[in-house]
Parts: sequence; structure tokens; C-alpha cells
Amino acid sequence: MAREFRIAVFPGDGIGLEITDPCIAVVDAALARVGGLRLAYDTVEAGAGAYQNLGTALPDESVEAARAADAILLAAAGLPDIRYPDGTEIAPQIELRSILDLYAGVRPIRSIPGVPSPLADPRGSELDFVIVRESTEGLFVSHRKGTVRGDDEAEDRLLITRRGTERVVDATLHIAETRKAAGGRGHATCIDKANVFASYAFFRKVFDERAARHPGLTTDHIYIDASTLDFVGRPWRFDVIVTENMFGDILSDLGAGLIGGMGFAPSADIGDKHAVFQPCHGTAPDIAGQGKANPTAMFLSGAMMLEWLAERHDEPRAADAGGLIRAAVDDAFRDGLRTCEIGGQSGVREVTDAVLSRLSQ
Ligand code: ATP
Repeated sequence: MAREFRIAVFPGDGIGLEITDPCIAVVDAALARVGGLRLAYDTVEAGAGAYQNLGTALPDESVEAARAADAILLAAAGLPDIRYPDGTEIAPQIELRSILDLYAGVRPIRSIPGVPSPLADPRGSELDFVIVRESTEGLFVSHRKGTVRGDDEAEDRLLITRRGTERVVDATLHIAETRKAAGGRGHATCIDKANVFASYAFFRKVFDERAARHPGLTTDHIYIDASTLDFVGRPWRFDVIVTENMFGDILSDLGAGLIGGMGFAPSADIGDKHAVFQPCHGTAPDIAGQGKANPTAMFLSGAMMLEWLAERHDEPRAADAGGLIRAAVDDAFRDGLRTCEIGGQSGVREVTDAVLSRLSQ
């Protein structure tokens, strides 16, 4: 009998609703190729639609399903026109990070063959680095807790703790070690603003302490402002990056821009017990409902989910399936597939068919 893992699925809103079923089809096709494994899906509500229909953006049953699952697959949630009374957007994905203590936001920035880079240098088409975004504190500790005093001033708080920093730095160093074992450079970069703020100087100090335990890795630091220059000037200098929550939020989009756009950038929010896999993009209301969305980031997030299950449950077949998805995506774009955001015409259906056809070969 096939070994089974339970997956809580959050389709969410906007293009999230369009890319969820295709992702499940791709993941299942990859698993069918390796054999011996199956996923049981439990689809639950969260997001702006849930808030409108049920009065809550993240129902208790959805949280329970997430807790009970072996992994969580989330497409995209929130819509700009449906907001909380305080004006903030509905973002159950941010709430899940704190409820499930998902502290490491892992965002691989990997070029896909054939997808044009905005960088003229040919090395811009061969990027392969990882951003690890601290996902439970930093400036986001103030999420929905900011203060507005009269109409004169507003204040949000930024918090860096030793525990929060140690665990995300350790996760980063683990990724750097793993990549090194697979032939990578074994280099970790801390991105901060330690020259101006005590909180970031503390983040850097803890990074140095933890990095000292990994003599086989090389490390460096760079200020956030200078790092944006390197992102567009020489991003190949990076291997694995760790940074504060807000900086990671911004750098993730910048990184996605380097590899073709939001539709190509997968991510994982990982904790000690749970993990959510979702594309870096939002619900893209400007193109929702038109079939134009690029589901690639969602497929690659599904691949990351399989690889995480493989490591956690010592199940190499799941890692093999994840590798098959990545290879099928690479083949499809290498063969000329072009999505709307890179000047082509292909949307959800065509990208899904192209990837599925390669998985069935
Ligand atoms: P959030 O704040 O929830 O991260 P956002 O406001 O940053 O969301 P996105 O929803 O990520 O915005 O969209 C940013 C831009 O990228 C939009 O123009 C959108 O159409 C485009 N985009 C996002 N995801 C995709 C996708 N999968 N395929 C094609 N275009 C996309």
C-alpha cells in the first residue's frame, strides 16, 4: 500500500483559486511517476472570500486542519478591496506564520532555462541563490498592532530576539551546508542595517555567533541598501542570505524580478513542526479570473513541499518527485513556453499542460 501524507490546501482568493487544482495535478503526476506515495488533500477556507462569507479570514477549522496536516499548501490570499476595519489587508498567510511559528521564509531565486533575465550579463540567467526571511518578528511583530495617534503620528515596532534570530540563522546555515554538500559554495550572507539600528546590530552579532559553529562555511555581511545594488549589479555573489522580516519581504520581490517575475518565485515558511508552501506572489487581482496567471511558482512550491516531506520523514521518493517537477518546468520553458509576464501568451492552462505532458513522458 502507498505511504500517505495529509496536506491542508488553502486556495485563498484571486489567482490562488486558479492555480491550486493545477498544482495538485502536477504534484500527483510526479508522485505517480515515482510510485509508492500518495497525498490526501483537505481543502479549507481562508482569506478575503472567507472574511466576506464567514466573517473571519482564518476560521478555526482551517487552523485545525493546518495543525493536523503533514504539510500545508497555500496559493494566495487577500484582496485589496476587502479589508479589516482598520484598513489593513486580509492576510491569513501572515497569521499562520505566527500561529504555527513558521520562522524561516525560504525563497529560492533560481533562473529557469529560457526565461529571460532583466540583466544584460549572461550570469544573470544562471542565478541560484536562496533568501531566508525571518518570518515571525522584525517589523512584522507590529502586524495589526500599530498605533495611530490622532491624525498626527503613527508608530510600528520592530523586535529582534535572540531566540528568533538564532533559529532562523541556524536554518540558513543548514541550507548553506546542504547546498555545499551538493557542490555549492557554502557561503552565508547576513543582510541588515547594523550601522544605524541597535536591533540590526544585535541580529548581526547573533549571526556571527552561530556562524562560528560552522567553520566549513564562509560568511559576510552587507547593509540592506548596498545589497539592493548587488541584487541588480552582481547577484551571483550570493549563495544563502538571511535577513529580517521586512527586508526579506522586499528582497524577495526584487529576487523574483531577476528570474522573470512573481510567477516564477516559490517559497516555504518553515517551523519546527509545521510548514506552509506558497508562491511568493499575492492574489494578482489585476489578472485574476482571466486564466493569465503563471502557475510555475505554485508548482515549484509544491516541489519544495515534497522535498521538505522527504527530509522530515526520510522518504527519498518524495524528493525524487520534487526533482521531477523542477525538471519538467525547466524542460517546458527551455522548449519555448512563454507566459504573459515575460511577453508570451501562455497562462494557467497552457503552462499546466506543458508541465504535465513532460511529467507523463
Ligand atoms: P501581496 O502584497 O499579497 O504579496 P502584491 O500586491 O505584492 O501582493 P501580487 O499579487 O504579487 O501583488 O502581484 C504583483 C504583480 O505581479 C501584479 O501585476 C500581478 O499581476 C503580477 N503577478 C503576480 N503573480 C503572478 C502570476 N502568478 N502570474 C503572472 N503575474 C503575476
